[in-house]
Amino acid sequence: MTQLPYRAVVLDIEGTTTPITFVYDVLFPYARERVAEFLSNNLDNPEVQRDLELLREQAQEDAAGDFPNAPQVPADAAGNALVEAAVTNIHWQMDADRKTTALKSLQGKIWKDGYAAGTLVASVYPDVFDALEHWQSLELPAYIYSSGSIAAQKLLFGHTEKGDLRPQLAGYFDTTTGPKKNAQSYLDIAHLIHQAPEDVVFVTDNLDEANAAADAGMQTRIALRPGNAPLPEHDHPTLTSFDALFEA
Ligand SMILES: [Mg+2]
Repeated sequence: MTQLPYRAVVLDIEGTTTPITFVYDVLFPYARERVAEFLSNNLDNPEVQRDLELLREQAQEDAAGDFPNAPQVPADAAGNALVEAAVTNIHWQMDADRKTTALKSLQGKIWKDGYAAGTLVASVYPDVFDALEHWQSLELPAYIYSSGSIAAQKLLFGHTEKGDLRPQLAGYFDTTTGPKKNAQSYLDIAHLIHQAPEDVVFVTDNLDEANAAADAGMQTRIALRPGNAPLPEHDHPTLTSFDALFEA
């Protein structure tokens, strides 16, 4: 068997293991379409009530600040009226591509429900399934490093077209370890996984991330997937399939 020139792999998600369009073409529309039903079914859930309170405060803050037309969630609204006001605000926030805590928290709950129910399935490139199996058979650990939260990463890899991939992943890192464009983050990850940086290969579609990993001493590959943004000239090896990670 060919000796691979690395002892561990660290993988970005969007644009690397998963189409960059998954978030905008699948996840966001899913949350948008289901939010009314989700709120109606979960109005008594204390965590959902907390999210609605956050949403109400956010709407007030928005109206008083940069968004005078922000749809409000009246404090005295209850039942269907509350759901309707909240949905109007959430759709408005989604149209504006806001990333508020209230919105993210509710979206996260809707996605979690969808994954659990099997109505939401995460998209992973076919060559990634094969590579994860291959690495596992070689006892070579594969990790995820994504700006999405570790909880969201586990949901995604726990519910793919080929089922639960979590047994094939050795661990997860998000921006609580550090920003993805900082070399220190990659030094810290290497330390945490007990590897010398030069024994680790980091795969990403983002040039700044690849540069940061290379600055930390890691090997790098830039994933060229359909729909990824074009990159300026660079010195990183590229791949169009993870099959390339098994070539000598
Ligand atoms: Mg990416």
